[in-house]
Amino acid sequence: MVHLLEEIETYAKEQNVPIMQKDGIDFLTKYIKENQVQTILELGTAIGYSAIKMALVDENITVVTVEKDEAKYQKALENIRKFHLESRIQVYLEDALSFETTDAFDLIFIDAAKSQYISFFERFKKNIKDTGTIVSDNLAFHGLVGTDTTSYSRNVRGLIRKLENYITFLEENKEFETTFLKVGDGIGITKKSK
Ligand code: SAM
Repeated sequence: MVHLLEEIETYAKEQNVPIMQKDGIDFLTKYIKENQVQTILELGTAIGYSAIKMALVDENITVVTVEKDEAKYQKALENIRKFHLESRIQVYLEDALSFETTDAFDLIFIDAAKSQYISFFERFKKNIKDTGTIVSDNLAFHGLVGTDTTSYSRNVRGLIRKLENYITFLEENKEFETTFLKVGDGIGITKKSK
């Protein structure tokens, strides 16, 4: 099992597939265990690494995960099969912004296009249980969010501005409360306000 996970980590590095950083995924799996999370919706499967790590926390956990890139989707299916997790991880090849579900989840993990985090949040907030958590990754964007980015490309500046807007959106949101953690690439833990 460890060997297979290392294989995915090596593949991701070699092929430049962004997967969760080690301390980020360690935090997330610990959170899932401590909060008895059982049902998870993930936006942004990539090659299935975080979905597999989350499903391995407990055999009662099920993951629905959405990926829009066909090649990554195929690789995710292949990796999930290696772990015999096909019955607990459902992967959809679709843009998360058109993906429909009426299910309610214990945890929604937002890890797809950084420029669309507000839209993902708005689209799927109805799918979080009252006691559930929305986890957003990459809020620090390699430490660049909140720093002087004038020397970076327009693209990078645009992405950082969108993430800063998302952080402000979460901070000002009355329906939800967010804790921002300096773990991995910056993680937001959002829960419904009481
Ligand atoms: N969660 C994965 C992990 O840690 O193993 C990493 C996900 S990677 C950071 C982001 C993925 O989101 C990419 O594979 C990208 O193709 C996908 N993506 C980006 N925008 C998307 C969208 N609108 N709908 C579905 N997938 C999207």
